[in-house]
Amino acid sequence: MSQIAEIMQQTQAAFEVYSKTTPAQRAGFLQHIAEAIEAKREQLVAKAHEETHLPLPRLNNEITRTTGQLKMFAAYITEGSWVAAAIDNLPGKPDTRKMLVPIGPVVVFGASNFPFAFSTAGGDTASALASGSTVVVKGHSAHAGTSLLVNDAIQEAIRLSGMPEHTLQHVLGPGNSTGKELVLHAYTTGVGFTGSFSGGTALMRYAAEREKPIPVFAEMSSINPVVLLPDTLTQNAAALAKKLAGSITLGMGQFCTNPGLLLGIEGPGLEEFLSKLGEEITQVTGQPMLHEGIYSNYKENLSSKSSHIAYRGSGEPTPAIATVSAAEFLNNPHLREEVFGPFSLLVVCADKAGLKNTLQSIKGQLTATIMGTDKDLVENTDIIALQTSLAGRVIINDVPTGVEVNSSMVHGGPFPATSDARFTSVGTSAIQRWVRPVCFQGFPDALLPEELQNANPRGIWRTVNNEWKNS
Ligand code: NAP
Repeated sequence: MSQIAEIMQQTQAAFEVYSKTTPAQRAGFLQHIAEAIEAKREQLVAKAHEETHLPLPRLNNEITRTTGQLKMFAAYITEGSWVAAAIDNLPGKPDTRKMLVPIGPVVVFGASNFPFAFSTAGGDTASALASGSTVVVKGHSAHAGTSLLVNDAIQEAIRLSGMPEHTLQHVLGPGNSTGKELVLHAYTTGVGFTGSFSGGTALMRYAAEREKPIPVFAEMSSINPVVLLPDTLTQNAAALAKKLAGSITLGMGQFCTNPGLLLGIEGPGLEEFLSKLGEEITQVTGQPMLHEGIYSNYKENLSSKSSHIAYRGSGEPTPAIATVSAAEFLNNPHLREEVFGPFSLLVVCADKAGLKNTLQSIKGQLTATIMGTDKDLVENTDIIALQTSLAGRVIINDVPTGVEVNSSMVHGGPFPATSDARFTSVGTSAIQRWVRPVCFQGFPDALLPEELQNANPRGIWRTVNNEWKNS
């Protein structure tokens, strides 16, 4: 038996026990993971810094975000109403009761750009464990040491909280052999991924070709269009340029929400904005990227766009702003692809019709932003509607980088931003990816899950014959 087959058998056996744990037990386990990570904070930050070159304050914040996510899910499942329980038991009708149950073992691919928050104990893992699914993590080679240390913290939490030994397992190895075998294994029921378009779509293909296809929740590529409306350009060009330059170069542009596409209507306001953005960008010096592959992709992307580059910063990777007309943008699909790094492309449109055409040519996005004064916003509800049709998160007068972790967040969007626009990988709703609804018909009360029993022992909100009740 291969090592992966053995791991999958163990995770399946663990699932049979773990899926029956109470929400309180799972919440305690998530809390223990958060505490074990916190106890190793210094060691984790140092290792991640060595492996990813990310600055120490950023890594410290990311640990806080990661432990915060774990605690958020602990509170969410403790409250319990998320299972969407519904009871229908009208006289003369069958007694049917529905709730969400965990799908089974889940494979999580660690992301290169978030060694904590989207990796071993990140949002995919936290939401899957909260749901009652077991997890096999395929660590990212760019921060394998960090991933192993986080795994140690999780294993400690497994022991402390008395969870089955193989509730979470960690493997390292090449994506196209180890990763592929994990996705293809019969016991795998779902996949979480953050990374490249080619990687995400490869996993989607493996999953679809299985004898029993499974869902892949892949977050892949997004250029996050920012529309700059005319009145705000006239009034706020310099402030907008400063704010956007900060967002474009934050973390060397290695965020999936990096504003990689700016759009505006030609005129003195847009010219002033571009020149101020140029001033800002030329002052930024490149810092080492996450790994050699990402850096060489960036250099290649930049050189293929060299004829369009208007401003460059210094150092390597070189931050850059390119500019093209809407006609050039529409004729060259290559310009619509993600450039992962400190880069943004400004599309200069001749008029509002050109702006609308350009937006209509863009594929699905994680975010879409509109910068505008009150006057702009009132006059451009059609642009706001277009942006809303493109993305999972629509932002007015702020930058897309910085993703809040809460119940209203949507970190998702139409393909190719993600593989399934109905879901989010950040926030409490991320748990929805790892569950399926089951209807229990004609069950005696004692055989029902507590969430569906007549006495409602968990006191959760549920519908009883379409009426909301928590008693
Ligand atoms: P990646 O190449 O997609 O790799 C992510 C994970 O998927 C790794 O574990 C990788 O394994 C695995 N993988 C890749 N191709 C696979 C395949 N065909 N079959 C099975 N597994 C596969 O992403 P990355 O290393 O993070 O960065 C590469 C590029 O991805 C960047 O330059 C950037 O363009 C993009 N990226 C985008 C985002 C975003 O959020 N939009 C985030 C990070 C990166 P191996 O390590 O063995 O290849």
